[in-house]
Amino acid sequence: MTVKAYQEDNIFAKMLLGEIPCHKVYEDDKTLAFMDIMPQAKGHVLIIPKQKAVELSQLEPEYASAVLMTAKKVMQAQRKVFDREGIIQMQLNGAEAGQTVFHYHVHLIPTNIHELGKHAAKQADMAELVQQAKQLAEAIEQA
Ligand code: AMP
Repeated sequence: MTVKAYQEDNIFAKMLLGEIPCHKVYEDDKTLAFMDIMPQAKGHVLIIPKQKAVELSQLEPEYASAVLMTAKKVMQAQRKVFDREGIIQMQLNGAEAGQTVFHYHVHLIPTNIHELGKHAAKQADMAELVQQAKQLAEAIEQA
């Protein structure tokens, strides 16, 4: 099986270009973290590399490590803000696996595997996402 070619007009590529907005939690030179607009639990965050990669097999080592370093920051902030011990780290490769946006991303979802909501199913309240992004960004800054 071959991997899908990277599409420059995918929604996360547009976010990186500033063409569409996101509820930003954290950004550095190699990564961006933001709230998932259809969360599978309260506080669901996505982390993307600033590299054009569809999936894990295409991710360069420096970006793989940068995504994980950002994930660690976000996860610690989620623990503090949402007071949850359980944080699910998820990453889908390929449409068959359920991937819907073809720019590599890691999901960090504060919940329990038995309570995990449906994937990309229901849009969150925007005011809540704004508030959660602010709380997480502040927690990362204070760490
Ligand atoms: P995946 O199916 O693993 O590719 O996940 C894509 C994720 O992106 C889903 O959880 C969607 O809810 C989320 N998503 C789609 N569009 C946006 C958007 N504009 N802003 C934030 N999250 C999004």
